[in-house]
Amino acid sequence: MIWEAPCFTEADRLEVRWWAALHEAGHVAGAVILLHDKTADAVVLPDGRGMTYFKRSRPIMPLLTFDEILQVAAGTAAEALAAKHPKPVEAPAIPAQSAVNAPERAARQAAAAKDMEKTLSDAVRVARWCCEGRLDEPEKWAWRRILITHYARSFAADHAGLVLKVARKLYCTGYVGPAELKEIFEGQEQ
Ligand SMILES: [Zn+2]
Repeated sequence: MIWEAPCFTEADRLEVRWWAALHEAGHVAGAVILLHDKTADAVVLPDGRGMTYFKRSRPIMPLLTFDEILQVAAGTAAEALAAKHPKPVEAPAIPAQSAVNAPERAARQAAAAKDMEKTLSDAVRVARWCCEGRLDEPEKWAWRRILITHYARSFAADHAGLVLKVARKLYCTGYVGPAELKEIFEGQEQ
């Protein structure tokens, strides 16, 4: 699961990092809530790119289940939360210098920078899911695209509180792992 955008100014760079944090937080919330996988961890790199790892990640076919593709689509859907929830106002720590989870984060950031090169984009995964077995029935794959987008937006809106908690931590420290997830999700909706 990757999110990537060009950066132009320092202000843009921080904005991009907030969008990336929201995107990865959408994937993380999807992993925990839809797939009951609390082993997920996510990084946002200093350059604003991000990546989420979780146990049930499937880089290629077979066809994903509805909940699995919803977890993929939840990343992009969660970005819409930026419209109502601006990035944290406190001066963010630069992820590379933050002391929080330094070893885990450093390892994940190094891996993510390489993994991004060979990972399918969310858009490709969703497109394949929509088209799988239906290439000659465009009304069916078009409908599936509308359906998954709608459900992903609903998921992000319904779990906005959790997504924002994960995103704020990602934005400020560059890393969220199982220990942070336990703290954030424990005692909350599942
Ligand atoms: Zn993604």
